[in-house]
Amino acid sequence: MKFSYKILLCSLITMAAAFGIGGYFFVNDVFQASLEREIGQAADDSSILKFAFETAALNIPSKYDILQNSVIEEIGGNLENSGQGSRRLLRLCDEDQKVLYASDGFLGDTVLLGEIREQVRAYQIIHPDRHYYIQTGVMVNALGRTLYLETMKDVTDVYAERTRGFAVYRGLTILILVCCSIVMYIFSYWLTKPIRILTGATKKMTAGDYSSRAEQISSDEMGQLTMDFNHMAKVVEENIHKLEDEVRAREDFIAAFSHELKTPLTAVIGYADMLRSRKLDDEKHFLSANYIYTEGKRLETMSLRLLDIIVTRRYEHEPQDTEVDELFGYLKDLYAERNEVPVLFRYEAARIRVEANLLKSVLLNLTDNACKASEPGGPVEVRGEAGENGYCFLVEDHGVGIPPEECRKITEAFYMVDKSRSRSHNGAGLGLALCVEILKLHGSSLEIESTPGEGSCFWFVIPWEEVSADGTAEKT
Ligand code: ADP
Repeated sequence: MKFSYKILLCSLITMAAAFGIGGYFFVNDVFQASLEREIGQAADDSSILKFAFETAALNIPSKYDILQNSVIEEIGGNLENSGQGSRRLLRLCDEDQKVLYASDGFLGDTVLLGEIREQVRAYQIIHPDRHYYIQTGVMVNALGRTLYLETMKDVTDVYAERTRGFAVYRGLTILILVCCSIVMYIFSYWLTKPIRILTGATKKMTAGDYSSRAEQISSDEMGQLTMDFNHMAKVVEENIHKLEDEVRAREDFIAAFSHELKTPLTAVIGYADMLRSRKLDDEKHFLSANYIYTEGKRLETMSLRLLDIIVTRRYEHEPQDTEVDELFGYLKDLYAERNEVPVLFRYEAARIRVEANLLKSVLLNLTDNACKASEPGGPVEVRGEAGENGYCFLVEDHGVGIPPEECRKITEAFYMVDKSRSRSHNGAGLGLALCVEILKLHGSSLEIESTPGEGSCFWFVIPWEEVSADGTAEKT
């Protein structure tokens, strides 16, 4: 059952119960008040008749000291017809509860007689043949006799009034419920609108439209729920895009890897086949063997770099306090021997929290690339500057440069701007990809500025880290 129908049903049940119970008590209360009034009137009538009987008994001349049954009958008859416009219903019984006089149509039983006492007005409600009567009874003392005087008052109208009250109230309740159910349906439809909007958005998301959002139409709890849903949808969408990007990157990686593997292998197999199937002169023999060697070396470098990337991705990062002097000292020693491209070093002393070996690998890759891009020429400059947010490393060259559209791609695995030039330098397009992975571990990223024909500058910032008292590092 729909939620809006449930709201409607619950409201209707509550209203029906409230109106039903309230109506019953209201109509019954009015009825009880009317009945009490009728009982009071019947009792008053009964007292008046008692007084009239006693007065009449005293005034009727009698030759006996005691009231005769015939006199009682006569007074009873007079009293019966003494009413204004209507005939009274009364009954007179003697001390032994023997009926002395009874009006025509007096239907009451004699049960009430047992309850009549001196100064006590007894009454009961009797219900013969769809009629309701109040039967009252009093004790009458006249001329030495004690009699019982009973009256009957028709109160059928009062009961009919109650029945009519219930019927009117029932009709009114049904009418109100019908009107309320229309109003409540509109309200419940309006109240559940945010739920319908959310359901629609959920269905769209389930069908694959992750950009779908629910419109927020209120600022109450439902509005808060919509906001939370939209936030959740945004996070899901971002994660899905991230996963899609990762899958695409992996596929690209595998395609590039197979391509990079196939090219040198084809050449290696071709030259090896030539060596084993033909007798070559010394020069061709050397060239073939040399080709196999250099391509083999390239494959070796490629497999080592790949291994490095995979290891770095799964690596448990263990940074240590390191003097930048140590890193620059290592590079200086390495490039002191190489004279093709001069490498200049300029840095500010500082202590940073890094893994020295990994950072050396990054600086070495960037400096190597800069040297390759500068050949012949130079110089290449490697700088270190202490900044506000961290320590900045810069590797700048005045070499071939990189076209702007390539700058974004060169950090992808196997990407080379000039493939033949890179391959001639034993490159496989994995160096920068490795640098990016290592810098990620250090909370940093590789930035590139380059102008084709003028040179490039690669730089990254290692954030300052505070060493807490227990020795664990916290990022600032
Ligand atoms: P490789 O092993 O081929 O050097 P890298 O990932 O280190 O792979 O570099 C990817 C490509 O980026 C290189 O092939 C080269 O074309 C380009 N590149 C990298 N550094 C520079 C630079 N300083 N100047 C010009 N091009 C560069």
